[in-house]
Amino acid sequence: SGYNKVLEENRHLYNQVQDLKGSIRVYCRVRPFLPGQASRSSTVDYIGDGNLTILNPLKQGKDARRSFNFNKVFGPSTTQAEVFADTQPLIRSVLDGYNVCIFAYGQTGSGKTYTMNGPKEITEQSRGVNYRALSDLFCISEQRRDTFSYEVSVQMIEIYNEQVRDLLAADEIRNNSQQKGLNVPEANLVLVTSTSEVVELMNIGHRNRAVGATALNDRSSRSHSCLTVHVQGRDMTSGAVLRGCLHLVDLAGSERVDKSEATGERLKEAQHINKSLSALGDVIASLAQKNAHVPYRNSKLTQLLQDSLGGQAKTLMFVHISPDVEAFGETTSTLKFAERVASVELGAARVNK
Ligand code: ADP
Repeated sequence: SGYNKVLEENRHLYNQVQDLKGSIRVYCRVRPFLPGQASRSSTVDYIGDGNLTILNPLKQGKDARRSFNFNKVFGPSTTQAEVFADTQPLIRSVLDGYNVCIFAYGQTGSGKTYTMNGPKEITEQSRGVNYRALSDLFCISEQRRDTFSYEVSVQMIEIYNEQVRDLLAADEIRNNSQQKGLNVPEANLVLVTSTSEVVELMNIGHRNRAVGATALNDRSSRSHSCLTVHVQGRDMTSGAVLRGCLHLVDLAGSERVDKSEATGERLKEAQHINKSLSALGDVIASLAQKNAHVPYRNSKLTQLLQDSLGGQAKTLMFVHISPDVEAFGETTSTLKFAERVASVELGAARVNK
């Protein structure tokens, strides 16, 4: 069939895809010091391809160092294009009918939005994973157009205090939107045909996300945002239909909130964030351990993504850290979270066997 022909032509890619099937990968990205911070000392002592060592500023000698292993570690000078090159095989597998989840995890200011979206002023070089993913999907579907006909549609939601909000619900969307979706039946699913259409929708989504935020309450760091891309491909020879789905999730900031200082709204937000991030960690850890029971129901996020976490689906967690000594405590807890998510598969599987 046409599908087999495409696979044959993309054999190397197909093999990569098979390797990734059902797997959980963790990439760690260290952001550079920001302009004006260059003279600060760094907690990052060593960066290798798959590991990094951090330095505790309060300890001396051997005790001061701690190493972590991940599938990849990107240092401060890694470009957006280099990060995307290691993400691309996963994204392309969506066109072959896989479900893929990509998460950005880390404390506020560690570079989550930079990885997924880009900096404030986005240039061609600084474009993040979201834009590159969509443009790649359109490009490949164009290349396959003699054998496959693809339909691409997107959803954008925000989860704040365990409440789901549709960021594309605005009347501004004149596209032929349809009222259906995977697990958020009420969220608008908008049919798109080009990257620029998606960028327009993302801008609408970002504007809608800002509603409800005040100067003192930058909601975007305390809510999860999810751009979901649904792909449906029809094999023009056999008529067979493939469905794949890509979730691009910018998670709420993982920083712990000082309980003695947080009250009211702030405390409630912090509790919801803690709960949902640890629920996500639990789900991923339990999938990696191949537990019979996976606790999807413990948070809105894991409930929504249930079909795309586990089974044949592929998960990539980008964990972000700041090199600043000031952030050492948060950096350590971020890396421990990531280690738990990553090493379970490598570590616990070894122990269990
Ligand atoms: P978060 O989404 O985790 O709160 P941001 O993505 O907003 O963090 O990053 C905080 C600041 O650091 C922003 O000004 C951003 O442009 C900058 N930044 C983050 N990562 C990088 C990077 N890899 N290269 C250059 N600047 C970065």
